[in-house]
Amino acid sequence: MDVVIVGAGFAGMYMLHSCRQAGLSAIVYERGGGVGGTWYWNRYPGARCDVPSLEYSYQFSEDLQQEWEWTEKYATQPEILRYAEHVADRFDLKRDIRFDALVTSITYDETTNLWTTTLKDGEQTTSRFIVAAVGCLSSANRPRFTGDETFSGRIVHTGEWPHEGVDFTGKRVAVIGTGSSGIQAIPIIAEQCDHLTVFQRTASFTIPAHNAPLDPQYVRSVKSDYSTFRAKNMLTRAALGGDTPTGTSSASEVSDEELDRVLSERWAKGGLLFLGGFNDSMVNKASNDRVANWVRDKISSIVRDPQTAELLQPETVIGCKRLVVDSGYYETFNRPNVSLVDLSERPIERFTPHGIVVDGAEHPVDIVVLATGFDAMTGSLLKLGITGRNGVSLADAWNAGPVNYLGLTVHGFPNFFMITGPGSPSVLTNVLVSIQHHVEWITSTISHLDAHGHHKIEATKDAQDSWVAHVNGVASMTLFPTCNSWYLGANIPGKPRIFMPLPGFPDYVSRVSRVTENHYDGFALTP
Ligand code: NAP
Repeated sequence: MDVVIVGAGFAGMYMLHSCRQAGLSAIVYERGGGVGGTWYWNRYPGARCDVPSLEYSYQFSEDLQQEWEWTEKYATQPEILRYAEHVADRFDLKRDIRFDALVTSITYDETTNLWTTTLKDGEQTTSRFIVAAVGCLSSANRPRFTGDETFSGRIVHTGEWPHEGVDFTGKRVAVIGTGSSGIQAIPIIAEQCDHLTVFQRTASFTIPAHNAPLDPQYVRSVKSDYSTFRAKNMLTRAALGGDTPTGTSSASEVSDEELDRVLSERWAKGGLLFLGGFNDSMVNKASNDRVANWVRDKISSIVRDPQTAELLQPETVIGCKRLVVDSGYYETFNRPNVSLVDLSERPIERFTPHGIVVDGAEHPVDIVVLATGFDAMTGSLLKLGITGRNGVSLADAWNAGPVNYLGLTVHGFPNFFMITGPGSPSVLTNVLVSIQHHVEWITSTISHLDAHGHHKIEATKDAQDSWVAHVNGVASMTLFPTCNSWYLGANIPGKPRIFMPLPGFPDYVSRVSRVTENHYDGFALTP
């Protein structure tokens, strides 16, 4: 093969299509039984994208983006999965995708300049290039709790949801975790179950989605000039929401009335662009405090029980942990069948056969939902068992953190590419846009190598060091490093604390373009 691609989510599918168009032979190995990546696994109740569907979609084919009809502003998981299936069928992708194919190792051979990919069943394939399209949030974090093996009920993880669904009728349910997954699932589970106990270690800031069916007139207007709509989005920091520009004033400088006007408007609109009401919410603590306090007051105005309302008010900087978008989350705590258990001071002590004990009190439970997130950005890459030049494993190369060049490559790993890897804007963007950028860069780079008789591309150590310094430098100018987020790897015990994604999509794109135009500056190209 020219290219072995790992993962058949949105990144892997487009990578395969792009390889074919460039005349490269390619095969995709996918551990799941179907396409869709994160949308294949995350089937929990309420799972929905928090990027508007007209943006969270491919733009490489005008026909595709014209013919596909999204039904809601924010698409549900089943609808996104149907879209992924549609794309796979429309572009005849499945004939080059091997499903239920778990990659156990990928090893570089310096003498042949080839990579060998080995599957769990022992099958091996050699290729000139490897593209890891494994997703940023695809390695489930399943913390163990004392006594959880004695629990007589069922334990399920949002990121590995049973395909047949879970019936909560008449059950006492525990949800552990209040990030995006938990916050989406909690209102729906609360409606279905007998009693829901939410176990919260850190409160999240969440903004209402105000989801609704898509207005056909709005869809027509976007589709009448889809490319301009897409181009505007790509000029924003998060490659998202070009129609709602970021405010031009500082939240620390406006009057109380102006602050309230801007934030009320953004709250009423809903969604992730809430934080763009002012131009400095993520770089100026005084501004962030004012925005955060406004949301804290909002929580108090929605949640009737003052003690619960207080527990639901995050103490962190708003936006430091990934902002959440919800449908009826805070309102759910006004239901008589929902209670909140605070773990911030006292963690879960243990599981018993019939419940969960915190601070000496047992909460009776039949089903436990772990909404405990992922070993983000590096977890799935490290699970591939990658070994590069001189027998050095990726795990060793990343012992102190995921060093990389442009978030696309790693020194010591020739002809190996990552899509939305650490060091790229990835999770701080509409990831479909980042995927497109990476896929097209990787394909054109391989074509360039072939056209110029180069067999090998590898980031130099110097270029990698400067890139890592650049990413750290940008992150340190923001408020992102001020809390224990998964962006920093802080949710996984023992993981090096490094801010992994790079804030700012447009600047990133220009930097990558400059590297390319400058004869692949920072890479060694070997004839
Ligand atoms: P997450 O944001 O990492 O949240 C995990 C939650 O579990 C946190 O509240 C965490 O508490 C808690 N937790 C972890 N281990 C625990 C333990 N041992 N005891 C008690 N609590 C524990 O994970 P997620 O909710 O799955 O979301 C991950 C990311 O996926 C999101 O940030 C988003 O980027 C993406 N996502 C997007 C959507 C969407 O598009 N709408 C939906 C779902 C997910 P701490 O905060 O204290 O660590």
